[in-house]
Amino acid sequence: MAKKVALISLGCAKNLINSEQMLRLIADAGFETVTKPEKADAIILNTCGFIESAKMEAIDNIIALGRLKTEEEPKKLIVTGCLPERYKDKLFEEMPEIDALVGTGSFGEIVEVLGKILSGDEKVSTYGDINAPVEETGRVISTGDGFAYIKIAEGCDNRCGYCVIPSLRGRFRSRPMENIIEEAKALADMGIQELIVVAQDITRYGIDNYGKRMLSELLKELCRIDGIEWIRLHYLYPDEIDDELIKTIAGNDKILKYLDIPIQHINDGILRLMNRRGTDAEIRELFKKLRREIPGVVLRTSLITGLPGEGEAEFEELCDFLREARIERAGVFPLSPEEGTLAAKLEHPDEETATKRAELIMQLQDEVLNEFNKSRVGTKEVVMCDGFDTDMQCWYGRSYAESPDVDGYIWLLGEGFEAGNMYEVEITREIDGELVAEPAE
Ligand code: SF4
Repeated sequence: MAKKVALISLGCAKNLINSEQMLRLIADAGFETVTKPEKADAIILNTCGFIESAKMEAIDNIIALGRLKTEEEPKKLIVTGCLPERYKDKLFEEMPEIDALVGTGSFGEIVEVLGKILSGDEKVSTYGDINAPVEETGRVISTGDGFAYIKIAEGCDNRCGYCVIPSLRGRFRSRPMENIIEEAKALADMGIQELIVVAQDITRYGIDNYGKRMLSELLKELCRIDGIEWIRLHYLYPDEIDDELIKTIAGNDKILKYLDIPIQHINDGILRLMNRRGTDAEIRELFKKLRREIPGVVLRTSLITGLPGEGEAEFEELCDFLREARIERAGVFPLSPEEGTLAAKLEHPDEETATKRAELIMQLQDEVLNEFNKSRVGTKEVVMCDGFDTDMQCWYGRSYAESPDVDGYIWLLGEGFEAGNMYEVEITREIDGELVAEPAE
């Protein structure tokens, strides 16, 4: 009988793609995949480990899954991804319930690791080259019928002073364009209509393997694929958004007018200290230009409070910028001073101050978001139906302005919806920050 394997994926969409690749390899090797860890012979936990909260989430999961191991059912627990890449075999000492560790350079070895661990090997660990070319592995799409993430590069060459990602994911490596196009066509053939283009920094796509920025060319090629209706972009580095890219985004209906541009802060001193390229003036000008040249654009960013150099004046500067720029969507995080980063070495505001400031920014952003949501009542929008909520007894979906998992959903009243299909709806109400829509007349 085939051994049963369950996989739990934590962290970001880029990690989810690694999980989907492992699911493909496992299925092709003849294992049976199950959704409930209690029913599995081996459980894979694919982790994130770049900030404290992500590490804690991974550790809580390891403890909970470890409790499923009993003498009668000696399940095997394999921890993969960023946490083992960061702490390597030290994790075996701290958490004896772990049977195998697989780093971010070794996802492709998962079948071999499963084989060893299920045939009685005590402890197995593998940490492959994190700078090797991106593995071109098939995937089991786990995000439903309508959308799929597509990773165009791995790793990061930026060296932001608070970030450990380059040490966990290696140097920036772009995938060959033909492989991305081929994968996108296969996704379209499966009925996927929305492609979500991801990488740590998509604006650098092509620099390493083609010697120049190629995101515009890649997007134009993706736009030509029949069946792909929406292309959503995640993580554009502000100073790499050039006129050509703006023109490509503005001039192609399939590219959603939704841009995720993490800026982290606005104060020049902090940006410089944290090795971020671009200045306060350049970021302000970029956002104005995007609004001018891409009508209706919805902007998302991420911000960190409590970075070194952030006193009251610098924090106020950030608040003033947000009041002025009216960025519709923002993720705000207090600094997690990670071992080995510059930010952890430099003096920085204490945790309480950083957390308080993050809360204040969330309040400010709630006002911006409410204003944005209210402005949409009465408008007609195309939505992708993502599913049916059994608790609410209601269908839900997203327009161009909502990215999965980070931006919430629009409730769809009425009958006749189907997950994975697109519909024209009218936004009829806003209730406590949530939008409600009905089929358009
Ligand atoms: S660009 Fe993003 S992933 Fe790269 S170092 Fe900076 S914060 Fe980390």
